[in-house]
Amino acid sequence: MIPVKGYAAQTPTSDLASWDFQRREVGPHDVQFDILFCGVCHSDLHQIKNEWFEGIFPMVPGHEIVGKVMKVGDHVKKFKVGDLAGTGCLVDSCRTCENCKNDLEQYCLKGNSQTYNGLEQDKKTPTYGGYSRTIVVHEDFVLHISEKLNLAAVAPLLCAGITTYSPLRHWKVGKGHKLAVLGLGGLGHMGVKFGVAFGAEVTVLSTSPSKEKDAKKLGAHHFVVTSDPAQVKAAMGTFDYILDTVSAEHDFNMYLSLLRTNGVHICVGVPSKPAEIAAFSLLGGRKSVAGSGIGGLAETQEMLDFCAEHNIVSDIELIDIKDITASYARMVKGDVRYRFVIDIATLH
Ligand code: NAP
Ligand code: ZN
Ligand code: ZN
Repeated sequence: MIPVKGYAAQTPTSDLASWDFQRREVGPHDVQFDILFCGVCHSDLHQIKNEWFEGIFPMVPGHEIVGKVMKVGDHVKKFKVGDLAGTGCLVDSCRTCENCKNDLEQYCLKGNSQTYNGLEQDKKTPTYGGYSRTIVVHEDFVLHISEKLNLAAVAPLLCAGITTYSPLRHWKVGKGHKLAVLGLGGLGHMGVKFGVAFGAEVTVLSTSPSKEKDAKKLGAHHFVVTSDPAQVKAAMGTFDYILDTVSAEHDFNMYLSLLRTNGVHICVGVPSKPAEIAAFSLLGGRKSVAGSGIGGLAETQEMLDFCAEHNIVSDIELIDIKDITASYARMVKGDVRYRFVIDIATLH
């Protein structure tokens, strides 16, 4: 086994702290890479606080992982020592179900292996995430990272990036569409960048008037403060798509009124409580509420390559791992500009 230094929550009520654990030896198809940077996703906080379901503790969060390959197994073909590498939310899946065969490992019908707070495919070994010094992953679940981009700012692409890229591609959002991005946080700011890159007319719907300037800098064409009834009224019936990245409870009926006929409200944010949706909010205008979860491996690589080609990265604040609890507190207040990324060199 490989001894690894990590940062873990021992229980849902404890703060994260240094924790030593072990990872498996590098198998014939495994890649071991030393983690240089790991993004901080709101899902990390939901999970260490048991906001979705009972978690597996101790929990080492982190699924926006980038680093440098240190060792490869004898049969590894796609990576060599020294390459840049990344891993997102998945480290394995059944590989045999219909969805896995169609590059939709995120929807594996037999249960995939989440990067942390999950189980390996043996269904008993817990997985530990990227708030740690090194990781061992089957080469099929390791992504190639371009040398061209700022590596720390690439890390959030592994979750925030693919989670917004995938639905925009699925619904073919682009030229001629009016896209609203609801919530300007980690996911939201990537949704704006991709929406703009795909040619859509992008509006940010935000509770934070102070983010307007940033939204415009990110490329958004319009900005609506959702606490201002006059601005909301002016936006009614205007959007083809709403990409909903909100992490907390919010009023779906109000947002559905902003869609045009046949509009789609796409949920990617995962509040801990279910939403209440009135049938009337949907039937007047034949509207849909849909959802989308991360993305498959092939699409994640496609997104990373697209970002390298178009010079797209996340806007980040690099943090010392000791500041993780304070960063979570800022994230809950919506005070993220626009993704915290941990400099893993600060983990001793
Ligand atoms: P984040 O950085 O905290 O951003 C969330 C944003 O939502 C905030 O910045 C804020 O933006 C807005 N917001 C917060 N509370 C709100 C409220 N009560 N009403 C309206 N808006 C509110 O979080 P994130 O990392 O982007 O993640 C967002 C959500 O997506 C989380 O629930 C996360 O678990 C989920 N997620 C899902 C997937 C998936 O596969 N579907 C993948 C990753 C993450 P403003 O200040 O602009 O209002
Ligand atoms: Zn995430
Ligand atoms: Zn499967």
